[in-house]
Amino acid sequence: AREAARSKSAAPAATCDGTVVPVMANIGGPADAARALTSGADGVGLFRTEFLFLERQDAPSEDEQYAAYVAAAEAMAGRPVIIRTLDIGGDKPVPYLDTPREDNPFLGQRGARLCLARPALLRTQLRALWRAASGRDIWIMYPMISDVAELRAVLAAQEAARRELVAEGVETPAKVKTGIMIEVPAAAAMADKLAGLCDFVSIGTNDLTQYVMAADRGNPAVAHLCDSLHPAVLRLIARTCEAGAAAGIEVGMCGELAGEAKATPLLLGLGLVELSMSAGLVPEVKEAVRGADLAACRALAQKALACDTAGEVRALLGF
Ligand code: PEP
Ligand code: MG
Repeated sequence: AREAARSKSAAPAATCDGTVVPVMANIGGPADAARALTSGADGVGLFRTEFLFLERQDAPSEDEQYAAYVAAAEAMAGRPVIIRTLDIGGDKPVPYLDTPREDNPFLGQRGARLCLARPALLRTQLRALWRAASGRDIWIMYPMISDVAELRAVLAAQEAARRELVAEGVETPAKVKTGIMIEVPAAAAMADKLAGLCDFVSIGTNDLTQYVMAADRGNPAVAHLCDSLHPAVLRLIARTCEAGAAAGIEVGMCGELAGEAKATPLLLGLGLVELSMSAGLVPEVKEAVRGADLAACRALAQKALACDTAGEVRALLGF
């Protein structure tokens, strides 16, 4: 019975009306990939590379990073692996990066902002990623992108890293699928512009929610406001999905909300085409996808978008 359950979980999940929805895992390093695979994940939707940089005396070298990215991709046996560039800042200080203390670290120099301010750090990571992507289904994703200027800047850095490798005679693919996280409200507002410049986007509901609701994701006193099912957040998710569809790119989700099986019909109805979560939640979400009918999901999403409060949305979804 356990074997049957496992092979069912490894099979792709399609809605009743036949739309296949990749259900992927979030990982913090290559060691998590094995668990992702046994949970039936169709790939890695978010590799949080910051864990490679924490609890050490200096930044990992290009070769160390390359080895970690290759190991994760090989462990996933040909399935796509979306690797997010370093998302670190004042909230998770790294002594050797010497990040200044900030009064509001969540509004400070984190993620892509920090990487753009430290070109050498980004360059090393991009070189490792280009090399690892040779012959492997590795995608690159940038966190905390706020606007088109930032996206253009990281894309330029990415292309510069490739040209450097080519000049050195190192093998790189001609192109790697490149995307951004939508987790800053400004990015959701500008999703139509951003979607035209990349190959996919993935919604980070953890940060998007804290920024939309102005409620710290780690502060229990405002946890009632920091609810990803708030209609204010859902409206930005819907807007992002529409922008992605109009641009012909995939819109996925890798924030915690993606792992809530009770929310799966709503997320499919809003237009998400890929979901990524902690490995342990993959089987439940695959089951929820298999039970979903897209027309009914779309009707449910319209109802949720019309709700006044997060509580009403939760009641609608049977929480
Ligand atoms: C998010 O913000 O939703 C996300 C997936 O990124 P992280 O939780 O690593 O900030
Ligand atoms: Mg985030």
